[in-house]
Amino acid sequence: MDQLTWKARAKINLGLDVLRKRPDGYHDLRMVMQTIDLYDEIALRVTESGAAGADTIGNGTAGDDAAIRLRVQGGGGLVTADSQNLAYRAAELLMKEFAIRQGLDITLTKKIPVAAGLAGGSTDAAAVLIAVNQLFDLGLDERELMERGVKLGADVPYCIMGGTALAEGIGEQLTRLPSVPQAHVLLAKPPIQVSTKFVYSNLRLGDSDAQSVRHPDIDAQVQAIREGDLYRMAELMGNVLETVTIPAFPVIGEIRDRMMHCGAVNAMMSGSGPTVFGLFDDPEKAREAYTELSKGELAGEVYLTEFYTPETVT
Ligand code: ATP
Repeated sequence: MDQLTWKARAKINLGLDVLRKRPDGYHDLRMVMQTIDLYDEIALRVTESGAAGADTIGNGTAGDDAAIRLRVQGGGGLVTADSQNLAYRAAELLMKEFAIRQGLDITLTKKIPVAAGLAGGSTDAAAVLIAVNQLFDLGLDERELMERGVKLGADVPYCIMGGTALAEGIGEQLTRLPSVPQAHVLLAKPPIQVSTKFVYSNLRLGDSDAQSVRHPDIDAQVQAIREGDLYRMAELMGNVLETVTIPAFPVIGEIRDRMMHCGAVNAMMSGSGPTVFGLFDDPEKAREAYTELSKGELAGEVYLTEFYTPETVT
């Protein structure tokens, strides 16, 4: 095998709680993660070693001496095709460790909104790790890939695993959960930039603090998932980071309200935002909400998709 294409799927958080800030600056989290069927496409081809570089089609070329050549299509100019790209770094990590002599051509077609709370970069890294392992027959199992993935980002191990999972620690301690009953997932990203650093540094967690946050009940949500109860799971959706982002960027709350008005079972911001997702049990309502959000002024990017589980999507 010398070439491979891969779908690198995005995630949403059905629940996101922040427990505490750690001495190393990271936060201890508890998150319910769910893969959705919105993906970047990654095509990989093994080449003879030698000429390599990185370029963004239409955006010039960034030369490089490595044997990895990366092209990026899409991404609205926000994703550079250089050695900082997580897809590049993932290939480099394994190719260096295993002293691979051949080269690799990677074409990354971005479809997942960038810096959106959907783990776009992490899922690209996960996909490249999996693909490089296969292409060069490295023989790494899932756990071994995850150990390497966490060096690239806390969400990368989850993206390698995919499906429904509870993520703890900084996001790297994973417990697989049963698949959530299928739902239609409407995503809407307002045309704003929200820095993850801003969100975490403005989060107030202190118990005695007047502004202290209401924590979602992650254990109860996990239980609802184990029972296969979509409605109870949705009722228990909560993201503590909304306590920072909604006051700072009211459009996030407005999109959520609009989705609820359109008949969503529930709606919430994913990750540190700013993308909001709504879950719908009725395809008609989901489609109407998609049309409504698409023509409105609140969201720049709107997508209608569904949960990804290996059983439902090929
Ligand atoms: P998370 O949900 O994990 O916080 P996110 O969806 O908010 O992630 P990403 O789309 O992963 O954010 O992008 C964050 C930044 O990472 C971008 O601004 C971009 O500069 C950088 N980046 C590096 N590689 C990639 C990649 N392959 N795809 C997207 N962004 C990338």
